[in-house]
Amino acid sequence: MRLGLSSLFGLIFLALPASAQDITLRLPVACEIGRGCFIQHYVDRDPSPAASDYQCGTLTYEGHDGTDIRVPTMAAQKAGVDVVAAADGTVLRTRDGVEDIALTGRGRQSVANTECGNGAVVDHGNGWEAQYCHMAKGSLAVKSGDTLKAGDRIGRIGLSGMTEFPHLHFTLRKDGKPIDPFAYGAPEKSCGGGKSLWEASLQRALAYQGGSVLNKGFASGPVTMEAIESGAAEQEIPTTRSPALVAFVRAIGLKGGDVQTLTLFDPDGKPVAQNKASPLDRDKAQWMAFSGIKQPEGGFRPGLYRAIYRVERSGKPAIEQAFGISLRP
Ligand SMILES: [Zn+2]
Repeated sequence: MRLGLSSLFGLIFLALPASAQDITLRLPVACEIGRGCFIQHYVDRDPSPAASDYQCGTLTYEGHDGTDIRVPTMAAQKAGVDVVAAADGTVLRTRDGVEDIALTGRGRQSVANTECGNGAVVDHGNGWEAQYCHMAKGSLAVKSGDTLKAGDRIGRIGLSGMTEFPHLHFTLRKDGKPIDPFAYGAPEKSCGGGKSLWEASLQRALAYQGGSVLNKGFASGPVTMEAIESGAAEQEIPTTRSPALVAFVRAIGLKGGDVQTLTLFDPDGKPVAQNKASPLDRDKAQWMAFSGIKQPEGGFRPGLYRAIYRVERSGKPAIEQAFGISLRP
């Protein structure tokens, strides 16, 4: 069938009003969700003093107006993860020179007026604007007036401004108002309503998860948060001669009432240690779990030891993660 000019224009005209004002976002960080980076907080969609994410979950806090994308350790931050433009745009303003120091123990006063730390505000067109925060000192690769293509490097994930862990805080705004890119146009307090603004290829990786495992592994003795953050815990390789074999997990996004079980299995698949924690008394942004055994006389039997971490929420499985290590002499 021949399409007349008038009907062709008609089609284009019909298609425009619905989509012209929308934006499609790529991930503003150069890492893979679920491996190299994790979503710690979503936008708080609850206008009351309570907080609720777009799925009516707890992965947010009061007044949080952006998405926090976290790297798993300080070691990963030091190795460097790029912050990139989520869409084409023009840089409006930037700040660099703020130290990379965790807020922990310093008080909010210390970051007054520099809450965003090293950051950039980018005009993405049609009233869309995004702010990229907490980047590493000296990493800003753009200046105001620069034109960006989606994916262009803006800086690196850091620890500057009001933050206690290395992450990118990404605030999207439309006509000056913060927008949840996971739930554009959702009515207040709807659970899962609205439209995702992330590009189609990201939908699977960005599917909502009510908590995830940030770090996991095996050590030959007690594991500290410092050892996890520095990367030392992940580098250590226990052997059959290690004084102990300890499975460890750091999970994020846990809820009050969650029951965590970490079980260690020997090469025959027999459980040799289990740590079942009592239900959490309240929501926890992050939590560590361990399960281990001392070296038996004569050393550990060589072979594959496995661990399974499970979180039960309201009687249903919420998180499950299995991992293993081959013990050698
Ligand atoms: Zn944030």
